[in-house]
Amino acid sequence: MPIPYEKYEAVIGLEVHAQLLTKSKLFSGDSAAFGADANTNISPIVLAYPGALPMLNKRAVEYAVKMGLACGCSIEHTNYFARKNYFYPDLPKGYQISQHTTPVCKNGFVKIRTANGERDILLNRIHLEEDAGKSLHEVDDRNTSLDYNRAGVPLIEIVSEPDMHTAEEAFAFVTELRKLVRYLGICDGNMEEGSMRCDANVSIRIKGEKELGTKVEVKNLNSIRNVKKAIEFEISRMIELVESGGKVIQQTRSFDASNDTTFSMRTKEEANDYRYFTDPDLPPFIITEELLHAIRAAMPPLPEELVRKYRDLLHLPEYDARVICDDAATIRYFELLIQTTTHAKAAANWLLGPVKSFLNDKGESMDEFTLDASSLATLIELVESGKVNFSIASSRIFPVMVEKGTADALEVATELNLLQNSDAGDIAQWVDEVLLGMPEKVAEYKKGKKGLIGLFMGEVKKLSKGKADPKIATQLLTEKLEQR
Ligand code: ADP
Ligand code: MG
Repeated sequence: MPIPYEKYEAVIGLEVHAQLLTKSKLFSGDSAAFGADANTNISPIVLAYPGALPMLNKRAVEYAVKMGLACGCSIEHTNYFARKNYFYPDLPKGYQISQHTTPVCKNGFVKIRTANGERDILLNRIHLEEDAGKSLHEVDDRNTSLDYNRAGVPLIEIVSEPDMHTAEEAFAFVTELRKLVRYLGICDGNMEEGSMRCDANVSIRIKGEKELGTKVEVKNLNSIRNVKKAIEFEISRMIELVESGGKVIQQTRSFDASNDTTFSMRTKEEANDYRYFTDPDLPPFIITEELLHAIRAAMPPLPEELVRKYRDLLHLPEYDARVICDDAATIRYFELLIQTTTHAKAAANWLLGPVKSFLNDKGESMDEFTLDASSLATLIELVESGKVNFSIASSRIFPVMVEKGTADALEVATELNLLQNSDAGDIAQWVDEVLLGMPEKVAEYKKGKKGLIGLFMGEVKKLSKGKADPKIATQLLTEKLEQR
């Protein structure tokens, strides 16, 4: 009998850790940089030597608040740090400093878009905590080695409500989060390097039921694709389990990327009791109205606001606005373009057309694009004023300008002899030559096949190598055809 998957609804809540791009760690001055030699970015504070006192990194708080504001969270004014106690070799202090009862950001939402349209995914909280070190198993074949460079690096943990129902929604949620942290410049979002990590909590219930089912948590997913695959696997596994008479038990599981399955790491009975208590070495930190105001004022307009601006004020199609707002570098570039040209739609076309395909060919991203925006704006103006046509501009002038980095389009076009010819005498000659060469077509046109004008225009374009001003050419063609 086929398994009735559609009888069930999945419920998904995600916990996403994002490493903050601060110079130093959350409670000490050691460098938070990735990739240094093992155990070179450590200090008595990180290693919890007796008497060493932690001190809070203000920048990390600011970054967490930025993320909270971007997600519409309410910001906690009086914040405490708590010790989360557990033993693990990569945790030098024997406890992790985290926020327990007072997450810096509460509630809020992240807007996602899937094939089913737009939806706000509710957040539970965003809190600050420190990262653990790293256990290395490849350095020595008999022992585990420990690198404490990462211990104490600031993280935010973004915890969603159990508010998603498909792997696609989870995929879209993490994609949006990554876009947002990158846009705000608070995390590089590189999941493969571990600067963003995701735990997925998944349960199932019969459609229509209100109560949540027992969840499993799949730990440490290191790519957005794996988040989706792990959830897909879990949903099927649980439904098949329940349909065959089994029962879901609360578990922590791990994803095996070699075959896209998950396996159990531990069950609830072995769950940790973290014995949380307020860290006695850290005074509460207060986020004043002034600080909040300053952080808000320093934030760039959010991509969602820019989509609205481009759509409603610049009259771009929604699609163009969304693609531009997909990444920070494209937004920055577009903002520069529209400072120098009023042809917003043409600017969008250039970005999404020739610029994107140039970058795709080279396998580069928008940050690596070398032609400055004011130069590209001169090319846009040149096309819009009818001095060159778009195809010549994009195929001949654009590559030369990109090569130079900074260039004036008019100069380049003049140098390459590509400016459109609006000399009526020259155009008339081209028109005559074309019409003389196609007497049958001209006769058909005279009999009423007016659509042939397009064919004649095409020939004039070819003959003039694209330089004949199309307005004048059309006008001359019509006149001359009438006379024949
Ligand atoms: P825990 O105490 O096990 O960490 P929390 O209540 O803190 O659980 O929630 C952790 C994450 O699990 C959150 O993202 C939350 O949305 C999600 N979650 C909680 N219960 C469920 C459930 N029954 N099904 C799916 N996700 C859940
Ligand atoms: Mg949890």
